[in-house]
Order: sequence, then C-alpha cells, then structure tokens
Amino acid sequence: MLLTSQCMDITSLIMPQIAKAQVRLLVHGLLIKYWEEIGEVDEDYAPIHTYQVCRVMEQNQNNWLHTNWILTEGAQRVFIELKFTLRDCNSLPGGVGTCKETFNMYYYETNGDEDEMEDGEMRDGVGITEEEDRAMKESRYIKIDTIAADESFTELDLGDRVMKLNTEVRDLGPLNRKGFYLAFQDLGACIALVSVRVFYKRCPFLVKSLAEFPDTIPGSEASQLVEVVGRCVNNSLPLYEPPRMHCSTEGEWLVPIGKCVCQPGFEEINRSCQVCKVGFYRSLLESLACSKCPPHSVARQTGATVCSCEDGYYKIDSDPPNMACTRPPSGPRNAISNVNETSVFLEWSIPMETGGRKDVRYNILCRRVLPDGRGLEECGPNVRFLPRRSHTNYSFLLEAVNGVSELAKDHAKQYVSLNVTTNQAAPSPVSVVRKGHTGKSSIALSWAEPDRPNGIILEYEIKYFEKEQDSSYTIIKSKDTEMVVEGLKPSSVYIFQVRARTSAGYGAFSRRFEFQTSPYLYFSATTRGSVSVFTCVLRCGYSKAKQDPEEEKMHFHNGHIKFPGVRTYIDPLTYEDPNQAVHEFTQEIDVSFISIERIIGAGEFGEVCSGPLRLPGKREIQVAIKTLKAGYTEQQRRDFLWEASIMGQFNHPNIIRLEGVVTKSKPVMIITEYMENGSLDTFLKKNDGQFTVIQLVGMLRGIASGMRYLSDMGYVHRDLAARNILVNSNLVCKVSDFGLSRVLEDDPEAAYTTRGGKIPIRWTAPEAIAYRKFTSASDVWSYGIVMWEVMSYGERPYWEMSNQDVIKAVEESYRLPGPMDCPEALYHLMMDCWQRERSNRPKFDEIVCLLDKLIRNPSSLKKLVNSSHR
Ligand code: AMP
Repeated sequence: MLLTSQCMDITSLIMPQIAKAQVRLLVHGLLIKYWEEIGEVDEDYAPIHTYQVCRVMEQNQNNWLHTNWILTEGAQRVFIELKFTLRDCNSLPGGVGTCKETFNMYYYETNGDEDEMEDGEMRDGVGITEEEDRAMKESRYIKIDTIAADESFTELDLGDRVMKLNTEVRDLGPLNRKGFYLAFQDLGACIALVSVRVFYKRCPFLVKSLAEFPDTIPGSEASQLVEVVGRCVNNSLPLYEPPRMHCSTEGEWLVPIGKCVCQPGFEEINRSCQVCKVGFYRSLLESLACSKCPPHSVARQTGATVCSCEDGYYKIDSDPPNMACTRPPSGPRNAISNVNETSVFLEWSIPMETGGRKDVRYNILCRRVLPDGRGLEECGPNVRFLPRRSHTNYSFLLEAVNGVSELAKDHAKQYVSLNVTTNQAAPSPVSVVRKGHTGKSSIALSWAEPDRPNGIILEYEIKYFEKEQDSSYTIIKSKDTEMVVEGLKPSSVYIFQVRARTSAGYGAFSRRFEFQTSPYLYFSATTRGSVSVFTCVLRCGYSKAKQDPEEEKMHFHNGHIKFPGVRTYIDPLTYEDPNQAVHEFTQEIDVSFISIERIIGAGEFGEVCSGPLRLPGKREIQVAIKTLKAGYTEQQRRDFLWEASIMGQFNHPNIIRLEGVVTKSKPVMIITEYMENGSLDTFLKKNDGQFTVIQLVGMLRGIASGMRYLSDMGYVHRDLAARNILVNSNLVCKVSDFGLSRVLEDDPEAAYTTRGGKIPIRWTAPEAIAYRKFTSASDVWSYGIVMWEVMSYGERPYWEMSNQDVIKAVEESYRLPGPMDCPEALYHLMMDCWQRERSNRPKFDEIVCLLDKLIRNPSSLKKLVNSSHR
C-alpha cells in the first residue's frame, strides 16, 4: 500500500543573514520513475505538495527524482535542508524483504541548464535509447550522502494523523560552476519528500565605523574568512589604514580592523559625516566633533577646517588649531640696569600684555653713545657685553616679542630704552633691614645705607613676598631708608629684601629678612607703641637684651637667630661615600683651563699656587690652587677634598669662594678665588699702623658678616683666627680654612688638651677647651680674639704666655687688655665676646649691626680705651 503523505513544497526560504537561493522546481521534464507528485493536506489540513515513492514490494528499485537546474549565484558552498517522512519497514504487513529505510542524495554541476536542450535531440544525435540516456545522465551525478530517517512512521501514526517529519541538512561545496542539479535516488523505501530548501549564507551589506562593507559571499572552506576592504562613507577618510572586515562561512562579519573618520570640516552624526556649521571648525581627523572657533578667530562658511584670525590677531604654524589668535606683546616693564664694572645687568618685568602667548622673548639692541654728542653706533660683535675698561656710555633698547611678532608688521613696537655707563661700581648690598611698627596689614621697615654706596643713592627697591610663595613677589621703591609696607595679610610671614640704586645701577639685594604681621604676641603685650626702639638700638644692644627675656624672644621672633631662608650646611660626614659629597657640592674643572704660575704658600697637603682660570664662556680670573702632593693615602685625599665639600656649600662675599676641584687628573686640586693680600695676620703685621680705624672696622665687619652667614647655615668654624682669614686687593676679608677636627690637627696653634683633641687654646672659648662645646657662641669668642688681633695689627694673643697659663688666666677672669689706640666701643664688644656665660655673648648679626652703626657714626669710635685697661 502506498503511503500517502503531505504534498511536497520545495521553495526557497529566507533565514536571518541568509540570502535567498534561487530554487525553481521544474516538474515537467523532470525525470521521474515511480516518483509521484501528490497534492495533500498536512496535520492542520493545510494543502501541501509532496513527492512520494513506495515500491517496497518490488525488487531492484532505482527511482530518481531530479530537481531543475539551480543557479549558485556565485556561492561556493550551499546548504540543502530536506524534510521528509519515511515508513518503518517493520511496520509493513507481510514479507518486506526488499524494504529500505534510506535514500541517496546526489548533485551534478554544470555551467548551463542541460534540460533546456531537447532530450530527443540529444538522444538522436548520439542514437541512444531513453533508458541509456537516463543511465548516462545519472552516472554523472556525484553522491552527497545517504539520508536516513531519525523517526519512521507506522500504520498507527497514519491513523492518528501524526506526521513524523524528519529534517536533515547537508552542505555542498566547493562549487565551481554556475549551477547544479540535485537528485534523490530511491532503492526501495517508502518516502514522502515534503520540502527541499537549498540556500547559501552570505555576509550582508553593513556600515560599520563609517565604512560600507558590501554584501559578501563567504569562502568555500568551512572556517575560511574572506577579507573585505570597506569603503569610507561620503566625506570620510580612512584613519591610518583602510578599514577591513572578515566574512565567515557562517555569514557573519568578524575581526574589524581600522576605521574611517569624517574628513576635516565634517563631523559624525548618525553614522554619516555632516558638515560643520558656520562659526565651527574641525581640523584634525583625531578630534570627533566640530568645535567652536577659539577666541579672536572666525569661520564664516560651513565646513571650515580652520578658523581665521580677526584683524590684528595672528597665528603661527606651530600654534595648535584650538589656540586663540594672539597679538604681539606690549613693552617690557620696570627695566633697570645694574653695572658691575664692565658688565651691565639688565633686568625687567614681563610685559603687562603678553598678547595671549607664552613664548615671550626679548630683543636687546645695544648701541654705544659716541663721545662729544656724535650720536650712537651699533655695539657690533666686539661687545659681548664685556666692554673695555673705561667709562663707556651705552644705550640699550629693550623690546618684548612673541611668536606672532614677525607676522604683525603693523603693530607699533614698544621699546624701553636704558642708558648705562659702565665701569661704575654699583652700591654694596644693604646689610640690615629692621622691622618697626607692625600692624595687621602693614610692617614698617628701615635699613642702613650700604657700606659702600659708590655714589649718590637714588632710590631703594624693596622686594617682598609671602614666605614660601616666592613665585610672585612685589617690588616697591623708596627714596628714604625707611618705609611702611601695606596691604599685607594678618598673621603672615613675609620675606623682605632691599637694594640700593645709584647711577651705576642696582646693588645686590640684601639677604632675606623675615617679618610677621600682627597679631603679634610681644608687640601687642609689651612693646606696643615703642617698637621703633626695638630696631637697631635693642638689636645691637645685645647686653640689654640678655637682661630682658622678652626682648630675647623678640630677637628670636625677628628670625635673626637662625634665618629660615638660608640653606643649612650639610656635614659631608653624613655621606657614606665622601666622593659623593665632593660630587654634590663642588664643580669638576678640567685641568686644561688652569695655568699654574706661582707658588704662594705651603699648605698641609702640598703647595698653594696661583694662576689664571679660563673657563669657557667666562671671564678669566685669578685663582689660588691648593694641590695634594703625590704619594697621598686615600684618607689624605678624602681629608683634602673635605674642605672643598664644605666650602662648596657656601656662597657669601666674606667666605672664600670655591671655584671647583680637579679630581679626574693628578695632582688633585682645590681651586678658590685668589686673595691678593694673603692671610690677615701676616698682612696686618706687614702693614703695622697703616690703616684708619674705619678700614680696620670695615675688615672686622666683613669677617663678622661671613661668620653670621656661617652661623645662619648652622656651621661652626672652630678655628676662627686672623691666620685663617684671607684678604683681597680691596681689603675685603674672607673666612677660610674649613674642615672639621682635621683643621685643628693642621693648625700649628692647636694644642692637645687634657681631654684629647687639638685646640687652638688662645682663640678658643673656655667651654670648648674644657668640654669641646663648640658652638656659634664659641666662634663669637674666637671672633673677639680676631678683633683683638686686628686692632693690634697682628699681635699674638696673650703674647708669650704658655697655653696652660692662658687657660688658667681666662679661668680666673683675666681678659686681654684693649690694644693700643683701640676705640672703646670696639673693646667693649671684644669683652662681650669673652663673656664666660656663652648665652651672654652677642650673636654675629648683632655684632654686624653694631659695627655698621659704628661705621656710620665714626665719632662713636673717637673715644679710645683707657690705658689703665691694659
Ligand atoms: P692653607 O693651607 O689654606 O692654610 O693655605 C696656606 C697659605 O696659602 C695661606 O696661609 C695663604 O698665604 C695662601 N693661600 C691659601 N689660599 C689662598 C688664596 N685663596 N689666595 C691667596 N693665598 C692663599
């Protein structure tokens, strides 16, 4: 019995991402043997078309059902989905000896539809029968697979109208021709073919990252990827590289590479590139959206890639597109000159208007003023701003420019002109600045005229800033030596510096003075209204201060015990590797820059020589060259360079200046500034009675100033004596001989004490001799001895008394008598330096202050010590 099944419906179906394959079923002309086309209804009584065969009772079945020619449309891999029902052989009544439960599926590729040719013609042409022709055609088919049913149906199912439908999918490829045929071969089964779906997969058209990827047919191999280069959408460009995607055999786009971006003047909106509006621009591929034109620029049309500058504003090529258009700067401000012999330092403040740019530079036009009003001439290449050693008048034109100055041809240049005469000495620095009445927002300041004004002081410049905010400071000017600084914050610490100006220019700034605005504990409580007394009078009147604890506090609050602004000395001993300290604090000098011309002395480690130092790009200077003699031990080398590591940390006009060291070649050298008059003690002996008291006090003042600097740095000298002071040709005294205990070992004056260690007894404070209590206060004691040495032109302290007798005498309150013709004020100061109680001794800044006062008021030096003191 023939099983009737539902009708067969071979149509092309669409699956997601799967394009339709053209499948036309040609019923007529199809070679069918024992297959029947039957119209039926399914379980739901919907009409269906099926092809059926069921010749299970007969032997040797070979029934073929052919499809029409199916166009591949370029697909190399196609899928065939079959839906069918199949009869369970066991459920057939009676002998079913030949019954099968499978069928075969074949294909045959061609470039054209062979069925369109007349069957008869073909046969006629070769003279074969219809049977032979069919057999020949079937022999060309290639088997795809044998298809078995997962479920076969029985009589029962038919009764219940249950359709046990099987679905099988096979893929076919690679296909190389334009089309193919499918065929189903039955060998004796009971089959109803309900549908045959033939399809291929492809990657559909896609817009991704502003690139269009066309509808793409995958490769023939499973897991093969087809690379597709995308096309950038309108008004877009590939960024870095053309965008690419990969089409998989499953019809999916994979592995996107690169992207397109809207071209300049356009921006991406809704996966397309839209033009920038008026007033907006887009210049870079990397930026996404159109931006508003930066200040002082405009875009008058849509699609701008840059904005153009308004009139009077400019841009240079290197300016980023989002930078505002800019203008040339205004002129420099507050220009001043500062002459130091034949060098001129020009100083100015930045222009009020920088034109909106950070690249402000300055042009200096130098012209020499010709004598007798003959006009000006260009300075020419000779003036490396190192003019000859004569008074020469120069005129400088100073101009500020920035990156757009070149473009702004019409812009009026703002010059500042400075007229300068070289070879005039600028005033020496103001040494003391004092604080007067202090309010919540104001501080009254006063200061002394510089020691060496070198001309008429035209004005003073006061620079101040809030402590630790030195990036912004204020400068005010004063014609007097006092002024009230206003507009300060209450309870805030300010740093003040003062400098004087003469026609030769500005002198160096004073060191930093630190004062605090009110509320101020002591001023408000105890010294309100009389602060001015506290200025020099009390500060120099150290002996008074010591009686009044409040005043001592004031000293402290005035910040003069230790200046927070001053760096602290770092003991090279704290370095594990002494070479590291040398490296950190000194500069290596190439020996080729040094010429040794003379031997000027003998040091502990070797000769001390002198000669010129010619550093590239610097003026030649005379230097002293201390050498380390050959055959030294590593310890000696270390000790020798030790002094340089200490000296290298100091920078003060009364401290011997280290120029550098030579350690990379032999001999190892320490290079310092050259002091023409050698050590102070020999110098004074040589020039006995030759100097005025003011000159001697000037020397003492210099030494005290250097010592103040050292004590501010936290450095204790331990061997302050006239022999360790060097004198230059201008009678400037500088403290030298640095080191630690080592220095004392080298000092012929140093003697061993009972507690061990060598100490220069005659110069040393009793507490330092007794229990090695070396402090700035013991340095002050030594300073008193130096004062005595100076005032007595190099006399040996305590003359020929033995060290032991000196210790004993001092212990018994014996003190050196005032030297011959010594002003009483100076002897009082010496005696104060020799106070047994070290806290009663003056501080170095008080000593400096007092000496300044004496120098300013020479009549105070008239009164000489009573000879009965001796
Ligand atoms: P010192 O080893 O530092 O004591 O130096 C020995 C001697 O060399 C000193 O007494 C000075 O006469 C001389 N001397 C040292 N340094 C200098 C210098 N910078 N300028 C001139 N002479 C110096």
